[in-house]
Amino acid sequence: MFDVLIVGAGMVGASLACALGDKNCAGNRHLKVGIIESNGNFLRGEFAADGRASAIAYGSSQIWQNIGVWGGMQSRGVTPMHMIQVSEGNLPYQVQLRREDMGQEALGYIVENSVTLASLWEFARECSNLELICPAQVLDIEYVKNADCDLMRVKISSEIGDQYLETKLLVGADGGRSQVRQLAKIKITERQYEQTCIVTTIKSERSHQNFAYERFQESGPFAILPLSSDRACIVWTATKEETPALLALDEATFLQELIKRCGAPLIEKLGKVTLESRDRANYVPRWMHSKTYIQPRLVLIGDAAHTTHPIAGQGMNLGIRDMNALANVLRLAHQAQEDLGAIAVLNRYQAKRKWDNLGVIWLTDISNRIFSNHNLFFKILRRLGLLLLQISLLKRVLMYFMMGLHQSPK
Ligand SMILES: Cc1cc2nc3c(=O)[nH]c(=O)nc-3n(C[C@H](O)[C@H](O)[C@H](O)COP(=O)(O)OP(=O)(O)OC[C@H]3O[C@@H](n4cnc5c(N)ncnc54)[C@H](O)[C@@H]3O)c2cc1C
Repeated sequence: MFDVLIVGAGMVGASLACALGDKNCAGNRHLKVGIIESNGNFLRGEFAADGRASAIAYGSSQIWQNIGVWGGMQSRGVTPMHMIQVSEGNLPYQVQLRREDMGQEALGYIVENSVTLASLWEFARECSNLELICPAQVLDIEYVKNADCDLMRVKISSEIGDQYLETKLLVGADGGRSQVRQLAKIKITERQYEQTCIVTTIKSERSHQNFAYERFQESGPFAILPLSSDRACIVWTATKEETPALLALDEATFLQELIKRCGAPLIEKLGKVTLESRDRANYVPRWMHSKTYIQPRLVLIGDAAHTTHPIAGQGMNLGIRDMNALANVLRLAHQAQEDLGAIAVLNRYQAKRKWDNLGVIWLTDISNRIFSNHNLFFKILRRLGLLLLQISLLKRVLMYFMMGLHQSPK
C-alpha cells in the first residue's frame, strides 16, 4: 500500500513527488510514494511538446531551491527577469517593475516547461522511495471503508494491463480536466474566456536584456517573455473571432502581425526578429475553482483544483504553492505519526491555500476584463490604474504578491 499516490507527473505533481522524495530529505525515507503519468513521452525524456515557457515567481524558485531541484533547472537554463514593463497599446503609460525596487537578483525567472519537467523527472528518478508508474492512466477510484480501516483503491491501465493500487492518500495533480476530480464528483465553478492564447517563440538580433513585456491590446494581453540566447516566448491573447485567421496565416504574414503587436519602440531595441518555432500552439483560457480540494483520503493540487487566465503568469505558481503547502503538512503529519489521508490533516492544507488561490483567480479575472474592454469607462479606469502604479508603495505591494513573497517557502 502507498502512503501517497500522485496522479499526474506534470510540473505540479512531479514537484510534489520530489518534495516527498528521500534524495535530499532522509526524513521521507519511510514514506512510500507512487506517481502515475499517462504521457509515455516523459519516460523517454521527451518533454518539449509545445515549446511553452512559464514565468516563475521568485517565491516559487525558492520553494524549488529548498526541495533541491532548482540547481538542475539552472544548469539547463533559466532566464532571470530584471524588469517587467506593463503598457497599454502604444500609449506612453508604462509601468516598469524593476528588480532593484525589491532588492532581489530577479523579479522571477522564465523557464521553458521542458527544462522544468526534465529537471523534476531527473530528481524524482533518484529518489529511492518513489515509484514511477508510466505510461499509465487512472480508470477509476473507490473509497473503501470497512470495520478496521479505510483506504483509497485506484484502478489503472498500463502496459501490463489493468491493475488495482491502494493508498492512504490519493493526490489529483492531473491538470485542469482532472479525471480524479471528476471521479470524486467534486463540483467546480468555471468560466471560459472568449479568447485564445497563441504561443510561439521568436529570436531577436539584439539582446532583450532580460526584460519582459506585458502589452495590453484591444484583443487582449500580449506577453513577451525573455528566454536564453536572445529568444523570447510570445503569449498572444487573441479574440475568439480573430483566432482562426491568425492561425491560418503563412509564416511571413504572421511574423508581420506579431511585429505590429510588439510595437515599434520594442522592435527598434530588438532589431531583426525571426520566428524560431513554426508551431503556433493555442489554448482557450478559462478560470475554474473546485468547490473543495479535499475528501477523505483524496486531495487536489495545481490545475486539478483551480485554473486561471495566463495573463498574469500565475497558474503554475499557485500550483507550486499548493504542492509546497501539502508537502509541509504531510511531512509534519508523518513525523507526528498521524494518518496522512485523515480529513483533519487535509483540512490544514486546504485552509492554507484556498484564499491565496481565490484571490489570484479573482484579481486576474478583473484585470483581464478591465484590460480587454473597449468601453470608455474601462479605458479611463485602466489608465488611472497604470498611473496609480507609478506610486512607489503601490508598485511594491503589487510586486510583493506577484513575486510570491507573501507565502513562506518553509
Ligand atoms: C498559454 C499558457 C501560458 C501559461 N503561462 C504561465 C506562466 O507564465 N506562469 C505560470 O505560473 N503559469 C502559466 N500557465 C499555467 C500553467 O501552465 C499551469 O498552471 C500548469 O501547467 C499546471 O500544472 P499541473 O501539473 O497542475 O497540470 P498539467 O501541466 O496539466 O499536468 C497534468 C499531468 O497529468 C497527466 N494526466 C492527466 N490525466 C491523467 C490521468 N488520468 N492519469 C495519469 N496522468 C494524467 C498529464 O499527462 C500531465 O502530465 C500558463 C498556461 C497556459 C495555457
